[in-house]
Amino acid sequence: MQHHWYKKIKLRSLILSLGVLSILLTLASSYLAAYKVQRQLLIENTLESNRVYSAKLANVAATFVKTSLGHLGYSASMLTNNMDNRQRLTAEVERLHKQSGQFNSVVVVDKEGRIIASSPAVFAENNLTVSTPSASQSLNAKRPLVTDPFLSPAGNYLVSLSQPIFSEAGDYLGYISGSIYLEKQNILNFLLGSHDYKDGSYLYVVDRNRTIIYHPEASRVGELVSINDAVNTVTQGTHGATPIVNSKGIDMLAGFAPVELAGWGIVAQRPLTATLAPLNSHMKQVILQNSPLILLILLGVWLASTLISRPLWHLAKSTSPQDPTPRQHINVIRAWYFEAAQLKSAIIKSTELLNQRIQELYNDSQTDPMTGLLNRRGMQHVLEQYELNETPFAVMMCDLDHFKVINDTYGHDIGDQVIITFAALLKQLDVAGITLCRSGGEEFIVLIPHSTKAEACTHAQSLHAHLAQTSLPLNAPVTVSIGVAEWTGPTDTVHSVLKVADQALYKAKEQGRNTTVSA
Ligand code: GH3
Ligand code: MG
Ligand code: MG
Repeated sequence: MQHHWYKKIKLRSLILSLGVLSILLTLASSYLAAYKVQRQLLIENTLESNRVYSAKLANVAATFVKTSLGHLGYSASMLTNNMDNRQRLTAEVERLHKQSGQFNSVVVVDKEGRIIASSPAVFAENNLTVSTPSASQSLNAKRPLVTDPFLSPAGNYLVSLSQPIFSEAGDYLGYISGSIYLEKQNILNFLLGSHDYKDGSYLYVVDRNRTIIYHPEASRVGELVSINDAVNTVTQGTHGATPIVNSKGIDMLAGFAPVELAGWGIVAQRPLTATLAPLNSHMKQVILQNSPLILLILLGVWLASTLISRPLWHLAKSTSPQDPTPRQHINVIRAWYFEAAQLKSAIIKSTELLNQRIQELYNDSQTDPMTGLLNRRGMQHVLEQYELNETPFAVMMCDLDHFKVINDTYGHDIGDQVIITFAALLKQLDVAGITLCRSGGEEFIVLIPHSTKAEACTHAQSLHAHLAQTSLPLNAPVTVSIGVAEWTGPTDTVHSVLKVADQALYKAKEQGRNTTVSA
């Protein structure tokens, strides 16, 4: 269990990852929000500019149609009395054709559908007639008209603008029409195609039946445009703007406006990708400009995580079993905030308490509780010290005489009193460095460092004397037998000297007790 303590996630990593994660999430969400707003803005701006652009071009086209019909109308009124005058007719269509350049061709058609004058002259010279249903639209209309696209008798794909010609009596005589050749260089190309975008933006024009009458890709003229919202709406005569998918499956932002007089619809569109292209570089710019600040914040988080975790880390480390001197380490830890400070003082207090308790337990384990002298274990330590330091010492081994009798006669409690009293007498011995030990029931060992047998015998004699003078709660005197020995150096073991003292004590008992025998 001990060796797992450092394998857990560290507080610093926790704080650091929490900080970094929250910064990244905040950044990501704000970038996402900025991206969305910018994207919406770009889309709306493009839709609006395409709407305005298509409306403007619709206006131009409408002006063109209106002006052209005006010119044709004027010519029609001029021709009222000249339908038989080929020369006059030819002069008029040539003037109209060449003067303004609005039309690819101008023709006058009589009420039977025969082309009676034309510029270029070739149609009239070939006596062409208008016969197909769509070509005879103007013939049947008998009013100012912009036709649907149709294939002319001469093989041109065109739309024509026409004005009816009436006699003064109001009889229908035919019409004059100007044509725009949709597949050739024409006025629509000139008016609408002048903007040449590089980003895939383009503009096209449909008639009321969704047939393309102008497209930058000339090959698509005459094609029926696929159904989309922009075309649907504009062919119903409404202007506006909407995102659409074009015939090639590309997302487009389309603005559209109708040319009501002609029944046309103008659609200006720009690819969504082209619209959003600046957005990516813009976002990159934002990130780039923010990055020093972000790095600074990350650095701050890193620093904060270090500062916050450091005291706890040191506290944790110093309380680990691996740290040999925790107390000193704990004291120098800078616990700069409440929890760490509390923890630090708690650890210090509890360590102190623990050490105190350990000291107490240690002392207890070395001491005899009844007399307060060392027990055998305690004496053992002192002997080991002596042996280690080669301290010469003398031993007095004391055994109270006939103690069994005392116990039997006066009781065990009185026996205890005698033991305690004798221990007190030992404590009164005024000898430097002396070690007092109760080695058994009524047996005591006294160690006197840097001392000889002779000196020990002197102390033994005074012990006999003191014991004789001590009043005890019993009628008979208490006496002690003492064996004395000495240890002079490492030639002997310290234990052998105890044995020698024990033998001396045995001799003292043999000699009739209450005496000291020196080995
Ligand atoms: P001697 O030493 O003079 O030969 O005789 P003795 O009676 O003292 O010898 P022994 O060692 O046989 O008897 C010691 C007695 O001390 C035995 C035991 O009952 C008693 N004793 C041992 N420990 C204690 C103690 O803590 N308190 C009391 N009251 N008596 C104890
Ligand atoms: Mg004994
Ligand atoms: Mg005894």
